[in-house]
Amino acid sequence: MSDRVFAEAAGLAARARRPAVFTGAGMSRDSGLRTFRGEEGHWRTHRAEDLATPEALQRDPVTVWQWYAERLACLEGVTPHAGYLALVRWERSAGSLPVLTQNIDGLHSAAGSGDVTELHGTIRTASCTRCRGGRRRVDRSLLADLPPRCECGSVLRPDVVLFGEPLPREALLRAEEAARMTDLMVVVGTSMTVYPAASIPWTALSRGAAVIEINPCPTELSSAPGVLHIPTGAAEGLTRLLEKR
Ligand code: ZN
Repeated sequence: MSDRVFAEAAGLAARARRPAVFTGAGMSRDSGLRTFRGEEGHWRTHRAEDLATPEALQRDPVTVWQWYAERLACLEGVTPHAGYLALVRWERSAGSLPVLTQNIDGLHSAAGSGDVTELHGTIRTASCTRCRGGRRRVDRSLLADLPPRCECGSVLRPDVVLFGEPLPREALLRAEEAARMTDLMVVVGTSMTVYPAASIPWTALSRGAAVIEINPCPTELSSAPGVLHIPTGAAEGLTRLLEKR
């Protein structure tokens, strides 16, 4: 990775008045969390696209919850890597740093980021499918007897966006607002293929923001005018970019 590109990116970060960050699966991967798409995207004989749907939850809630229980088990012992902590330091020095994430694992909040928008929801809580009762934290005791149920008797659902569902409206509005207001968006570890979330960096770019993209492989975004592509993983790229923040 050339020092010149890092120096240019670090200069942008130093001058940014309203920075924002957009993250995807590559951010989590550097913490040792395996991703659930691509080669490892199959679970037993099921595809994620067949399990993470409202229909599957209705038809076979036990299998769907077994899958989420395994995903949660994968998160046990996973701690945020140095890139997350660099973002927390940047938030302190910049005064504010909206973090817009496609990830459902809660690692940004666990690291200490104070302004996190979860565009695809969170695997850490569940809600009733019928009575809109209070959210429940998903922990071992909740998963002891599958499927977990609300006091009203109905099956709970994970608070994640399932295939075919719209993104949570409030989260999408907050992310769009942050994208319109920012003068520098740092995009980390996303393939830029999952819409509508992937439209957020394009919004920032079209409103005149500079964009730094940290991704080992180039995406559709990488070669767009105004985008500085840093071809590294999330932990290495963020710690080098923000070492003086
Ligand atoms: Zn209920």
